[in-house]
Amino acid sequence: MKKALVIGAGPAGLTAAYELLTKSKDIEVTVFEESDCFGGISKTVNYKGNRMDMGGHRFFSKIPEVNEWWDKMLPMQGAPTYDDILLNRSMPLSKGGPDPEKEDRVMLTRHRVSRIYFDSKFYDYPISLKLETFKNFGFVTTMQVGFSYLAALIHKRPVNSLENFYINRFGRKLYSMFFEYYTENLWGRHPREIDPSWGAQRTKGMSIMAILKDVIEKKLNKKNRKVETSLIEEFKYPKLGPGQLWDVTASEVEKLGGGVIDCDAVYHELLERDTALQNRLDQAFGPLRDEAGAIDRKKLGAVVFRDPEKLETLNAIAWEAVVARTGALVEEYRAQGSALVAIDAIALLESPLRDLCDTTIAVIAPPETRAARIMAREGISESYAWSRVRAQKPDEYFTSRCEYVFVNDWASREEFADQIRKKLKELMEG
Ligand SMILES: Cc1cc2nc3c(=O)[nH]c(=O)nc-3n(C[C@H](O)[C@H](O)[C@H](O)COP(=O)(O)OP(=O)(O)OC[C@H]3O[C@@H](n4cnc5c(N)ncnc54)[C@H](O)[C@@H]3O)c2cc1C
Repeated sequence: MKKALVIGAGPAGLTAAYELLTKSKDIEVTVFEESDCFGGISKTVNYKGNRMDMGGHRFFSKIPEVNEWWDKMLPMQGAPTYDDILLNRSMPLSKGGPDPEKEDRVMLTRHRVSRIYFDSKFYDYPISLKLETFKNFGFVTTMQVGFSYLAALIHKRPVNSLENFYINRFGRKLYSMFFEYYTENLWGRHPREIDPSWGAQRTKGMSIMAILKDVIEKKLNKKNRKVETSLIEEFKYPKLGPGQLWDVTASEVEKLGGGVIDCDAVYHELLERDTALQNRLDQAFGPLRDEAGAIDRKKLGAVVFRDPEKLETLNAIAWEAVVARTGALVEEYRAQGSALVAIDAIALLESPLRDLCDTTIAVIAPPETRAARIMAREGISESYAWSRVRAQKPDEYFTSRCEYVFVNDWASREEFADQIRKKLKELMEG
């Protein structure tokens, strides 16, 4: 098996890791990230439960493969968002796509509003040729902008710096108003010292001519207008911010390299398909099959939940089958080269599944936090939530029996997930 080490879990690193894992089965991929977040400079940071973008990112590409890739990670919305309904805005909807009001893993279409605050006034960015712009400029500046643009058309400068690149396209006046200090602030260098190819990458085909052409075509309602990237009015945006795309990609990468066994799902699958188990249950509790030949769980429940002895017999039969199947699944993951397999099971510590684990981790949380979470998740009363919390075994039961303890008192799932990832990495490396 070949090994690929990817440095940095930003968009480039995570995309590379995902592509390597999906294109070949012979590559073991490890991504190294020095910070505690995925997404690099397009991350979304979780601060006290609020998701904050490090920079509003427009997801817009003319390359079909890129759009398809995004769609795979975050499918386009299939229903309107609450704000669009409220503001009566119609947005393109993808048939069968997720409803953003019900699901989080979804990409939205957003209208673009970009403004430059200059000289105590707001200007559209990119500059739009409308009355308000000229009113903001005032008569003198409008004349200076017009004449300096004409001068730039007649006298082209050698394109040997970003400064000259911008002046040729917009004229000196507009350049000094909107590009010079902005560029210096953003990139820490004067445009005179930056290579012109940077301008071509940043502004693509945008120029006064492109702006004029776009205005005229819009007025004429021209269909299939060819839109320059900087002039787009709509773009895609992940529901939970740009960093969500990279959190999802990271979890997909993890999914491709690791495994999680949900024992509840294993048990249900066995009840549906495992004929040896089905026959044993039939013998022990009478005919239990449904029309499809699977065990009817309601029928089984009705028999065992009234009789503690029968419940014990069922537990013994079920555990035996689940342990055997889980053991086989762990071996399958191991053979595929998975470094980590998590077993999610009820009463794991008391069951023979404990012996399959190299280590055990108790995840606990303060009782008040647990009660508040159950109430928020299930909309139940405070007294009922507390009765459920009190019915659980005390924390010491788990902390004294597990090798590691994680306290989940973080404000959000994402923050806790970040901590877990870090701890698991440490455990696996140490
Ligand atoms: C304000 C702002 C707005 C933007 N708007 C847009 C936009 O609208 N549309 C768009 O397409 N792009 C936009 N971008 C650009 C986009 O964010 C970047 O192109 C993209 O993040 C680059 O991805 P990357 O993986 O190459 O690098 P980065 O995002 O820089 O990620 C590099 C990662 O590597 C890690 N790393 C570095 N060195 C090491 C090391 N030695 N060991 C381990 N880890 C390491 C870093 O911690 C980081 O997580 C914007 C950027 C900014 C700042």
